[in-house]
Amino acid sequence: MPKFKFACPMSIAEVMETLSQSQEEVAFISGGTDLVIQLNSGQIKPAWLIDLSQIAELNYIKEVEGRLRIGSATTFTQISESSLIWEKARCLGQAASQVGSTQIRNRATLGGNIAKASPAGDSLPALLVLEAWVSILGPQGLRRVSFAQLQAGDGAGLQAKELITEVDFPSWQSQIETQIVSGFAKVGSRSTVTIARLNMAVKVEMDLGIGKIRGARWAVGALGRTPFRLEELELELQGKTMNQDLAQEIADRLTEAVDRAIPGRSSQEYKRQAIQGLGYDLLNDLFSEQMGVGR
Ligand SMILES: Cc1cc2nc3c(=O)[nH]c(=O)nc-3n(C[C@H](O)[C@H](O)[C@H](O)COP(=O)(O)OP(=O)(O)OC[C@H]3O[C@@H](n4cnc5c(N)ncnc54)[C@H](O)[C@@H]3O)c2cc1C
Repeated sequence: MPKFKFACPMSIAEVMETLSQSQEEVAFISGGTDLVIQLNSGQIKPAWLIDLSQIAELNYIKEVEGRLRIGSATTFTQISESSLIWEKARCLGQAASQVGSTQIRNRATLGGNIAKASPAGDSLPALLVLEAWVSILGPQGLRRVSFAQLQAGDGAGLQAKELITEVDFPSWQSQIETQIVSGFAKVGSRSTVTIARLNMAVKVEMDLGIGKIRGARWAVGALGRTPFRLEELELELQGKTMNQDLAQEIADRLTEAVDRAIPGRSSQEYKRQAIQGLGYDLLNDLFSEQMGVGR
């Protein structure tokens, strides 16, 4: 492992102070589940490592004025054990509970998952459908950017010495006339401790009065450089009734998404099948009654 200087700040202000004093290359370490591998392999050789794991200000899950706010150093264990998350953002709770193993979830953080920006990062499709925003503190001050823009890059991507401080999104909650449901599913090469070969998150708003879909957000990961939303499918779903026929239409659209994303790739045929299975799993989970599946 290369040599580096190590800082263990106790507050965000101390992080900023360390950053302002260093002209050298700096890397943040939160859970270390990705970073330590990169250090060991010599892939990165920062002069400074700044440990974020002792900063209480970066570790919380709370609801404030209609938005859920999650500190960037919150671990996937904490997210998967939060009743607030399961109640208001079930897809993120499901994604968190399927990251790696217990040991990985105890260390791995939401901020690290976003910064690593792996095409297969499990929280990422969930953040897309939840319409999350990310707060980032850097040498130029604080900026807030939608997660979709952040991962698209185009000038809004994470820059050197920028610290992700918080992720927030609307506190999605069913109302008398509107039911909001969300879910996440993934498939990997093994049943546990597996990086997704495909993952998927869905959020659907149902009009209970007429039993039709009012709006839907559908995102897939591990099909391109970054996870992406299936906006055409989302539009098509508006005003439809959830049933087996619609599930078949959705499965066809998902297969088309694979064909568009990875034409000719050796994994194309596998992913064409797998995405249909994931789609059905999610629909059966969220709409068991309409799909004629017993819970
Ligand atoms: C065995 C194993 C299994 C895994 N399984 C999964 C899985 O199933 N699903 C999945 O999505 N991932 C998985 N991962 C990857 C990894 O655990 C996640 O990406 C995790 O969320 C990274 O978080 P971390 O806190 O450990 O990040 P770190 O390793 O500490 O950091 C990762 C990167 O993010 C940067 N960073 C960290 N925090 C911040 C911040 N607040 N602001 C700015 N930059 C920051 C670091 O500088 C570094 O570049 C697995 C990894 C291993 C080793």
